[in-house]
Amino acid sequence: MTGQMANIGGQPILILPEGTLRSRGKDAQRNNISAAQAIGDAVKSTLGPKGMDKMLVDSLGDVVITNDGATILEEMKIEHPAAKMMVEIAKTQDKEVGDGTTTAVVFSGELLRKAGDLLDMEVHPTMITKGFRLAKEKALGILQKIAVDVTIEQTKTLEKIAETAMTGKSAEKVSDKLSHLAVKAVKKIADGAKVDTNDVKIEKKTGGSIEDTDIIEGVLIDKEVVHSSMPKKMEKANIMLLDSALEIKDLEGDAKISIDSPEKMQAFIDREENALKGMVEKVTKTGATVLFCQKGIDDLAQHFLAKAGVLAVRRVKKSDMEMLTKATGAEIVTNLNSASKTDIGYAGSVEERKISGDDMVFVEQCKKPKAVTLLIRGGTDHVVDEIERAMIDAIKGIGASLELGKIVSGGGAPEIEVAKELRKYADSFKGREQLAINAFADALEVIPRSLAENAGLDPIDKLANMRAYHDKHGIHGGLDVFTGEVVDMQKRGVIEALKIKVQAMKSASEAAELILRIDDIISASGSGEPAMPPGGMPPGMGGMM
Ligand code: ADP
Ligand code: MG
Repeated sequence: MTGQMANIGGQPILILPEGTLRSRGKDAQRNNISAAQAIGDAVKSTLGPKGMDKMLVDSLGDVVITNDGATILEEMKIEHPAAKMMVEIAKTQDKEVGDGTTTAVVFSGELLRKAGDLLDMEVHPTMITKGFRLAKEKALGILQKIAVDVTIEQTKTLEKIAETAMTGKSAEKVSDKLSHLAVKAVKKIADGAKVDTNDVKIEKKTGGSIEDTDIIEGVLIDKEVVHSSMPKKMEKANIMLLDSALEIKDLEGDAKISIDSPEKMQAFIDREENALKGMVEKVTKTGATVLFCQKGIDDLAQHFLAKAGVLAVRRVKKSDMEMLTKATGAEIVTNLNSASKTDIGYAGSVEERKISGDDMVFVEQCKKPKAVTLLIRGGTDHVVDEIERAMIDAIKGIGASLELGKIVSGGGAPEIEVAKELRKYADSFKGREQLAINAFADALEVIPRSLAENAGLDPIDKLANMRAYHDKHGIHGGLDVFTGEVVDMQKRGVIEALKIKVQAMKSASEAAELILRIDDIISASGSGEPAMPPGGMPPGMGGMM
């Protein structure tokens, strides 16, 4: 395609540099739609509890085995611009809700597939996007209507939400225990009805078994006490958080000191020693008995701290420092010279304990009891990572449910119900808008269809069963992928946050709209090869699936 010429007054003018690739109109749309579809299809087989895992091998040979949509897309190193938009959907979903990434991406891919069909029928992209927008607004209203209330007191319900979020991951075998822990952790950090799931700190330690995963009521720091003659345990600890180094700065630049006699040498050493001693005194003067330092602590300073009976930990992660601020009420000290008693925080106990042979520091009985750490254990790194993802899904799922105070049924129930109502709604429109609204409804059913397919069930049969259930028995009929039956998902305890569906619907249709509005792809030469054969895999995905 050579489209980089403009023709003004009969004189062709080169407006784009040599070698620029350009595709326009239908070609551009096709290209983008195929790429987006390819992404949707790539993660489709992982949807639901019976979804398959994917093994991802990066260029260094590192392996990730997962069925987590966001993780898969993250690892795939996707390059096609439209495909990248799909990855953005997953990221947004992950950030906003923490679960439902596969759902969002699969739905968006299907929405674009349906849009492609409409384009084939010569429906203009603007009409399609208009219909999709109408459908989305209506769908959000229907979702609100079919959602069920939930509060933080409903422990059993919250545990079911956690379990639903975890099914299908390796965590499933111990999902009873893990969902119990997830709810316990969330309840601990809840501030009335307000929940910030970031307040649950997650630490991983390979070793032991999944059953050893537990909650620590406090903050767990994956570091050891810095000096062997320091106390390993401090009760009623006064805690200083310091984010500068307890070291003497190296002489910088051209500054030189010339030491030409043993006396000068001694004087120099004394000066350094005194400086460090002075720093340590500034720490102890505040009454601190425990020091968490974000930077380094010089050997000599360690020695002085030990002599003063201070328990010190160095090179603490910034995120841990922030967690410690919240838990202990300490202010982070940036300049030791201005450190004072008011900066000091409190915990009933700070202790170094061994976990699988590694020393970790437990900060417990914190001033603010809302601090909670989830310590994840498991036999291998793969297991621990997968449990972590499952726990994050569970905790975020509970958080998202409480945020809106509403849940929906799982197993494809809401998608079937919304599709059904949307089709009725579509009848009130004529022609092309009606087509687009119906296409949106059809696209939604990709979720129950994929759940059935992935469970080895006949998707056409199961869709028919589900639609029939919704006509006769109501809105909660979903597919139990373990028995193949269509049952009331509220009774079966397969429930999830309304927010998952709301966010998935919003970002999927936004991305579809964005992609449909592009009718011209101009890519600079050397920006890689963005175009791909229709229906083919975008670059970077070859051989992955
Ligand atoms: P996502 O990344 O979208 O969260 P998942 O692989 O976690 O993808 O699958 C989520 C889907 O699986 C949801 O539609 C949810 O309702 C469904 N699901 C979860 N547990 C069950 C179950 N026991 N039976 C049927 N469907 C389930
Ligand atoms: Mg999920």
